[in-house]
Amino acid sequence: MKIAAVNTYVLSADLETPFAYSQAWYATRMALIVEVVADHGLSGFGEVYGPPRPNRGVVEAYAPLLVGEDPFAIERHWQRLYNHLRDHGQRGLAIQALSGIDIALWDLKGKALGLPVHVLMGGPIRERVRAYATGLYRRDRPDHEAYLREEAASYVEAGFTAMKLKTGWGVAEDVRLTRALRDEIGGEVELMVDANHAYDAVDALAYVRKVEDLDIGWFEEPVAPEDYDGYREVKAGGTIPVAGGECSFTRYGFRRLLTERLVDIAQPDTCAAGGLSECKKIADMAQAFGVRYVPHCWGTGIARAAALQLLAVLPHNPPGLHATEPLLEFDMSEHPIRDAVTTEPIVQEDGFVRVPTGPGLGIEVDRATLERFRA
Ligand code: CA
Repeated sequence: MKIAAVNTYVLSADLETPFAYSQAWYATRMALIVEVVADHGLSGFGEVYGPPRPNRGVVEAYAPLLVGEDPFAIERHWQRLYNHLRDHGQRGLAIQALSGIDIALWDLKGKALGLPVHVLMGGPIRERVRAYATGLYRRDRPDHEAYLREEAASYVEAGFTAMKLKTGWGVAEDVRLTRALRDEIGGEVELMVDANHAYDAVDALAYVRKVEDLDIGWFEEPVAPEDYDGYREVKAGGTIPVAGGECSFTRYGFRRLLTERLVDIAQPDTCAAGGLSECKKIADMAQAFGVRYVPHCWGTGIARAAALQLLAVLPHNPPGLHATEPLLEFDMSEHPIRDAVTTEPIVQEDGFVRVPTGPGLGIEVDRATLERFRA
């Protein structure tokens, strides 16, 4: 079997209700889907997290290195593609595009062998994963507390046992809304917060000191990803666990976060940090350094399936009869493509999601959706 083609699909969908996080407003959701086609017609799909159009250019730059090659030699392809752009991009687009190709190669291999990716990667260690709801974004309305309370209550009603609030709107405002949401959901449901690096260490710690009594599960991206000393200060200066890593890439990029223990929870995105191959390596590194691993996941059903295949093989950290289990980030914000791109949606039940057990990523991509949302 040889690789015959590498196809890309840039998808776009307008949103009914635009929403914001601390860095930008969203009025559309976009996606870059990668398809690796083998010469006998079988296809594998992957997804790239990051700006779709520039990333498509990088996938196209990698494609000639793959056509005519053995699709099963995933590790060889990873090293060759990484080395191809190493001098020009050890992070960002070069690795995001590589991630989508890597995931598509794993999907293709699994489909060719009739086995789910997590079995090929040594699993399953677990067959279902507890999900936390990502949502609680800003809307273009003045009554933030009212609609955030309503949304948080709807997640509890839907069975979620954990959720994440978007912060980074100023310390006083964040403190007020964090308190309101803890009040709304009660003490039993886990609450995490995510500033998307809106703060410096001074403001991040000012916020932490004012909400330390609220049992916050983690404080995600308190400071800019380049601000390693800021991470160290936020971690040392408060009692809320610190999470981060969705803007970090490959084993090399995570080395410092892990060796200097700058985060309590590492959050590589499977569709950005290097794909399934690389994220398994990062996860094993994290385990060796005693750092938890909870994948960042904010894409379509393809990204969600890839995250679940990885979650199925994440090592316990540490093992035990009551080991701490990794969580699946379950994005609940509006995304018209997310469930449409697969023939069967990936759903949560009572706050848990089953790892897909079909061949490859365990999903079937709906080709009509790829055409319908084509940008
Ligand atoms: Ca985040």
